[in-house]
Amino acid sequence: MSGLRCPECESFVGTSATAEVESTDFDESTGEMEVEIRMVLCCENCDHEFGEFVDTSIVEVDGYLDYLDENDEAEENEKSYDEAEVEPSIQTRKGKKYYVAKWTSKVYVGEKVFSVQGEMSVTRDQFDLYN
Ligand SMILES: [Zn+2]
Repeated sequence: MSGLRCPECESFVGTSATAEVESTDFDESTGEMEVEIRMVLCCENCDHEFGEFVDTSIVEVDGYLDYLDENDEAEENEKSYDEAEVEPSIQTRKGKKYYVAKWTSKVYVGEKVFSVQGEMSVTRDQFDLYN
């Protein structure tokens, strides 16, 4: 597959991707965290934006439901969570280039802290290109 032609550099260029968190939600009853992430495909030379990909990554917070099961009083404790933080990277898997957005967050039940992480990975073909 050839590179994309950047209208600003006026040449075929490599691409990178940025990632940002659009929203973070935590469902206290299912223990699932939902993180909506927007990735933007950019020119490596000049940061021209070619297109974007938006999707939701859902991860069950490890140990959260078990903890509530085992601690009756934890049900009463105040629950909260952090806005997810995301870090973009590029990985090659089986010869294919993937734009990967790894995210991390934390869920709090009283004094107890649960770490949670997930990722979204897309190929260039999956981006919706701007016209
Ligand atoms: Zn460019």
